[in-house]
Formats: sequence, structure tokens, C-alpha cells
Amino acid sequence: MVLAALLLTAGCASTQGVRGAPGSASDRTGSAVPAYVRWGLAAPLPSPPKPSRPTLPARGLPPVVDRVPTRDKVVFLTYDDGAEKDPRFVDLVRELRLPVTMFLTDSVAGPGYGHFARLRAVGAGLQNHTLDHAALRGLPYAGQRAEICGQQRKLHTRFGVRPHLFRPPYGTYDATTLRAAADCGIRAVVLWRATMTTDLSFTTGTRSLRPGDVIAVPATETLSPTLKERTVRLLRRIQEQGLTVGKLDDYL
Ligand SMILES: [Zn+2]
Repeated sequence: MVLAALLLTAGCASTQGVRGAPGSASDRTGSAVPAYVRWGLAAPLPSPPKPSRPTLPARGLPPVVDRVPTRDKVVFLTYDDGAEKDPRFVDLVRELRLPVTMFLTDSVAGPGYGHFARLRAVGAGLQNHTLDHAALRGLPYAGQRAEICGQQRKLHTRFGVRPHLFRPPYGTYDATTLRAAADCGIRAVVLWRATMTTDLSFTTGTRSLRPGDVIAVPATETLSPTLKERTVRLLRRIQEQGLTVGKLDDYL
């Protein structure tokens, strides 16, 4: 069950320039062809307005969110586990200045942490998705805390980051999860409203994206099309609906 998030963000849906436009800071490849054209988009991605300071509760249990209450015309791209490590995905994120958030599981991402260091260097947010991808609901406090705090320590050691967002594996959690997450320094638990596999599917009855929706793009080595291809396909859907991509870490 998804609890309502008590979050307030301000701002308007105006755009402040575009990413990947010719000659822009985002297009550093020296190519005469704009980045958005090279990646198969019909138009540049508008840059979202800078959100006002997030207002997560300073203490207590973290809220569980699958969307951010905002009037900005943004949705959020999140990637789980860290199985797929395609260098072209790093190119995509860099060239389009795409503000993605990666929820990493140590046992999956760990052997390829260099890939995620490169993603972080081009602006990706790195957040917590446990050490071993255990289904947490029903596990004792100590086990849940070990999974969450253990990954906090790994990500801090590897990247110097202190994640404040957590996604429970399979989206399954209980009250103990929230307590353990809070004790590990987590400020919000992030689920999703839509999933992009071969096509976009929604967890609710809706058939279209709405401002503030969190989208999960599962990363598996076997899934075809690739993460990069699915992301481009998803960006086209986002643009068709008059939306752009915001950085989740800035809104929460
Ligand atoms: Zn996962």
C-alpha cells in the first residue's frame, strides 16, 4: 500500500532552456548534429525549473511516495539494481544531461561500480536498494537494518555519498522497514507509478503520465530492448505528453 506523501514543492511549469541543443553546454561532443537528434528524439528536452527546497519531515518515519506532488511538468526516471552496465547509457545521460536516479543493490551493481562512478560523474543520483535484494516485508528488524544500513555504508565507501532515498526490492515493505530505513538515515521510501519494460505500464488505472510521476526502468541483463533503447522510447512518450525529466534527488 502506498501512503500519501506529505511533501510540498513549489514552482511553475515554465521551461528554462533546453538540453542537448546545438552549441549548448550539454552538447560537448563537437558534433554539428544536436544531441537530441542523434538520440532519435523529435525535439530537445526542456530543462525543468529548479524546485524549491524539498520539505521532507526532519524526523520520524520516512514517507512512502510513488509520485511527487508538484505542478512542474516533470516526471522522474529511476533505475533499479544495477545489472546493466552499457557504456552507451552513460553517453545518453551525459549528452542529454538526463537527471536519472539509480537505486543500487550491492550484490548486483558491486562488480561494476566503475560504471556507476562514471554515471555519477555525469550527474546521476545514486541511492539505496539494499545489499542483497532481499524481500524485506516480514523480516526481523535486525535483518532489514543490515540490508539497508549495509548498503548505506557500501555506497559511502565507494562513492562518498550518503543516500537519503531508499527503494525496497520488489516494492515490498512493512512498518519495520520504515523504522530500519529511518535509523539508517533514509528520508523517503520511493516506489513507482509506472514501469518501462518493452512498453510503459501503470500501477494505477491511468493510461498516461502525470506531473510528478516516478517511473521505474528495470535493469536486467536479459531484457531486450536494452536499457538505453527503452530510455529513448520512454523519452519520446514523455515528450508526447508535454513533460520533461526532473531530478528526483532535487525534489525529495
Ligand atoms: Zn530491484
